[in-house]
Amino acid sequence: MNATNFQKELDKLIDRNAQENRVPTLLLHSCCAPCSSYVLEYLSKYFSITDFYYNPNISPEGEYRRRTDEMERFIKEFPVVHEVTFLEGNYDPERFFSEVKGLEQEPEGGERCKVCFRMRLEEAAKMAKELGMDYFATTLTISPMKNAALLNQIGEEVAEIYGVTYLPSDFKKKNGFKRSTELSKEYDLYRQDYCGCVFSKAERERQKREMEANR
Ligand code: SF4
Repeated sequence: MNATNFQKELDKLIDRNAQENRVPTLLLHSCCAPCSSYVLEYLSKYFSITDFYYNPNISPEGEYRRRTDEMERFIKEFPVVHEVTFLEGNYDPERFFSEVKGLEQEPEGGERCKVCFRMRLEEAAKMAKELGMDYFATTLTISPMKNAALLNQIGEEVAEIYGVTYLPSDFKKKNGFKRSTELSKEYDLYRQDYCGCVFSKAERERQKREMEANR
């Protein structure tokens, strides 16, 4: 069975809206400024965007604040085509810790991440419904470290639960990830070296120690 080409699905949807001269509203769940940079450059040509920053997985709080501020700064500085507004969700790390209880030792990309993706996408779907948005999406699919097929599957599932429309994506396509690194340099964006949670931070620190020891 052929794997779904999410970029092609997105292209088709964008073409359809363009033919009808529509600029639909999109709630874009954003994980951080570097990943969002390319996605905003790309999608703000076609959508009126509310950039929804909901990431209670990020610890410690100082790191969360730093990433949030960088997101807001990028939106202020970047010359988008259609309007982009910033919306910060609740920072409720206790929710993240309770949802991933028992999965603390999972490796990055494993079961803990599935729960983390779902938690954030579910909140995005809920907010999209509340605000009456035409679509919702997530910047997470730009990461070469994250499973785009899984993210799209979760997106569709929560869309059905909340009665909203999920926008399929694989933003690393069309050189999206490469462009995000260029924009990060251009705007001097803070690029974190771990995914976000305390567990990924510990894993990254362990890898760094191992690299040092093997030098
Ligand atoms: S590694 Fe990243 S995606 Fe996985 S649980 Fe931690 S913050 Fe969430």
